[in-house]
Amino acid sequence: MLIKLKKWLFAPPKPRKVPKEEHYNLQELYHAVNARYFEGRLNLPIHWFGSRKSRPKYRIRFGTYNTRSKTIKIHRILDDPSVPDYFITFIIYHEILHHALPPKLRWGRRRQIHHAEFKAKEREFHDYALVEQYQKQLRKSWTTRLQLPLISEWENRGKARHTPEASSLDGAAG
Ligand SMILES: [Zn+2]
Repeated sequence: MLIKLKKWLFAPPKPRKVPKEEHYNLQELYHAVNARYFEGRLNLPIHWFGSRKSRPKYRIRFGTYNTRSKTIKIHRILDDPSVPDYFITFIIYHEILHHALPPKLRWGRRRQIHHAEFKAKEREFHDYALVEQYQKQLRKSWTTRLQLPLISEWENRGKARHTPEASSLDGAAG
């Protein structure tokens, strides 16, 4: 018993779990978008999801918005110095737009997610031209550090399926 206690007393402290280093501060980026485009009115939880080391086979969903929990999730793969800040900021902006501009019913039946109004709002993003350029670059580049074509959810409309990570909005065809 005593030996056990001694062992316990003098055991070296267990290494603490060091939080993973983050390049981007999601909260800060979110607050900036909220202030710039939504007069700071929004109060949506925002989190990372996925792994920085993800190697998905087909595509990466950069962001999701869950209509029920009103939560935005951004893929951790964007938490990287090689990703321009305007791009990750745009992903956040895009997901917020899903909150601000709900889907519309087309012909009273099909839900349209990325509808005309949505796309118009998207283009109001201050660095939209840069975002488009970067998108093109991503599409072209099969030799990125990921060795993968990165396809974001918004350019993948129609093909996206419902997944637990995906919101009901982003999961359906637009
Ligand atoms: Zn979307």
